[in-house]
Amino acid sequence: MTRAAILRWPDPRLSKVCAPATPGPDVANLARDLFETMYAAPGRGLAAPQIGVLLRVFVMDVTWKEGTPRPWVCINPELRLEGDVVSSTEGCLSIPGLTTDVARKTRAVMSYTDLAGRHQRVTLTGAEAICAQHEADHLDGIVTFDRLSAPDRMRAVSDYEALP
Ligand code: ZN
Repeated sequence: MTRAAILRWPDPRLSKVCAPATPGPDVANLARDLFETMYAAPGRGLAAPQIGVLLRVFVMDVTWKEGTPRPWVCINPELRLEGDVVSSTEGCLSIPGLTTDVARKTRAVMSYTDLAGRHQRVTLTGAEAICAQHEADHLDGIVTFDRLSAPDRMRAVSDYEALP
């Protein structure tokens, strides 16, 4: 396992649409690196492009900090969003030091491929639904700033640029 450097916005690699990934040893190694890097950061989710790998893979574990780890490796995820819209405060390891209020759906039906190459479908709610939407956005080159209205985005970007 290797702890990777996390790219910081506005690195152009964070704005790219990532390519589909094929489960296998390379993707298994990638997932291990993502977990190592995410847990060390420490964070709750990390997408491959955040460490410079432009493939549709992310990992998440939203409850490990509370002592109840629930790790996910999601390859080529597709989300169908359901439920109400809720605004919550999100951090991003690629935008360190700043949190942003982002509107998301409360429920996500996620289809994805697991490390063994099996097709999976799960319904996510709560923090996992929010985190999966955040990480899936990274695979399309979208960060939290891009989910804001134009004035809010300008304010958030200037707050971020003003950080030491
Ligand atoms: Zn992020």
